[in-house]
Amino acid sequence: MEGRELHEAIMELARRRGFFWPSFEIYGGLRGFYTYGNLGTKLKRNIEKAWRRFFVDPHGFLELDTPVLNPLRVFKASGHLEHFKDVMVECLKCHRVFRADHLIEEEAGLEYVEAMGEEAIRRLLREKRIRCPECGGDLGEPQEFLTMFQTQIGPMSGEPGFARPEAAQGMFLNFKLGFHHARERLPFALAQIGKVMRNEISPRRGLLRLREFTIMELELFFDPQEGQCPWFKEVSDESVKLITEEMEAEGFKEPLEVTLGEAVERGYIKTEWQAYFMGVSKRFITYLGVPPERQRFRAHLPEERSHYSTQTYDHEVYLESWGWIEIAGHAYRTDYDLKAHQKASGVDLTVRRADGSRFLPHVVEPSFGLDRLVYVALEVAYRKRDGRTVLALPRWIAPIQVAVMPLVTRDGLPEKAREIWSQLKDAGLTVEYEEKGSIGKRYARQDEIGTPIAVTVDYQTLEDDTVTLRDRDSWRQVRQEASRLPELLRSYINGERGFDELGRPL
Ligand code: AMP
Repeated sequence: MEGRELHEAIMELARRRGFFWPSFEIYGGLRGFYTYGNLGTKLKRNIEKAWRRFFVDPHGFLELDTPVLNPLRVFKASGHLEHFKDVMVECLKCHRVFRADHLIEEEAGLEYVEAMGEEAIRRLLREKRIRCPECGGDLGEPQEFLTMFQTQIGPMSGEPGFARPEAAQGMFLNFKLGFHHARERLPFALAQIGKVMRNEISPRRGLLRLREFTIMELELFFDPQEGQCPWFKEVSDESVKLITEEMEAEGFKEPLEVTLGEAVERGYIKTEWQAYFMGVSKRFITYLGVPPERQRFRAHLPEERSHYSTQTYDHEVYLESWGWIEIAGHAYRTDYDLKAHQKASGVDLTVRRADGSRFLPHVVEPSFGLDRLVYVALEVAYRKRDGRTVLALPRWIAPIQVAVMPLVTRDGLPEKAREIWSQLKDAGLTVEYEEKGSIGKRYARQDEIGTPIAVTVDYQTLEDDTVTLRDRDSWRQVRQEASRLPELLRSYINGERGFDELGRPL
């Protein structure tokens, strides 16, 4: 399955099994908002855990949880009020509104139109004679639209407030305290997982373009005179596919394959600090099940880059449904944000070097959209086997890790199965007990929601305390003593042993 059909199949599965579905349905729905069900929430939580494991824990970085709503002053200082805009066009006949660059991409078959800048967007709309895709009507003049949600803080003449479109400002506003808690030493990072809002002109493609979504962001603060990142050697031999700014400008589409070490040496990536996180990013996304050949990094051209960035690489993943999509932005923000907040607040945000000189730290930022990763993980894991659906999620992110089921619901089998379920639960595994329907139907359901292991209790269990373990991907089975399951399954789920090491083949 590919293209649109694959996307539809995943959206259907997501709704039927309770991963996610469009919000506000009983009121007719509202584009750009999705609700996660039990399985989706668990999957999301496991991806968050994986992100911490790759990005936060190895260096003991600090996590924050800062407000979604911010006063006007914050986004005035940060430059978002002036720059966080997209170009929209309205149909003069049916009055539908479209994001201009996306409309050109779809109607004229072009790519990365946003990168060409606003002037080019206006010109292309004229040159390509683009009309309303819904009713064929004429389009009005393109206009800029601020994509931050605005509200008022407090009653009556309260202060204007804006929902944050990124979590990063929370880290910059709290830089001083964060620095203090990090024992006043650089480099250190502040990280945050939280909701952000963007008033997208045309939300679409399910979880890929939402108006409210979760971001996982990290700001790494370092001394710009310190060009060497102490952790870089851990990833410098990692090879990556890059489309550099020069290649982008000259229209080269095929990425070049280099190690991160070479990419820094040749100046494709401006700093080791940024290259380090690109390496971690590749490992993290591979851990979520995306093979390296379906990953690449694409540099932004100056017109496409955010106002705060001096170099940005998007980490892109290839989807059968939508082609290359961005799942993370790696931005070199320099001291842009700290400088802006220092100026606007009048508070000194500089730090001191050993020689007494004062400076503003520089920042590199890897920023992931969690909802996109949920969709990517599902699409990459989606398989058909003998006409049935199998979600071959990496077992460390599967929402349910083990299903325990009695072969039949009599003769003491359910009681024994519940006992095993309870032991596995106590061992810290996410376990589901299931007794409804034929055993074949129950296996099929667990395959479809991506449960790596099914444990079946049968009559033999009552005699010798052994159970059958079934592998989701190969459908092979092994037999093992029930008492050994907590230890064996924990290490299997963590990836420390393979299925064949779980018991005697059947
Ligand atoms: P950006 O700051 O625009 O680079 O966004 C950071 C990350 O958030 C992107 O790499 C995407 O994964 C994700 N993202 C951006 N916009 C949206 C959106 N409207 N809906 C869902 N995810 C988004």
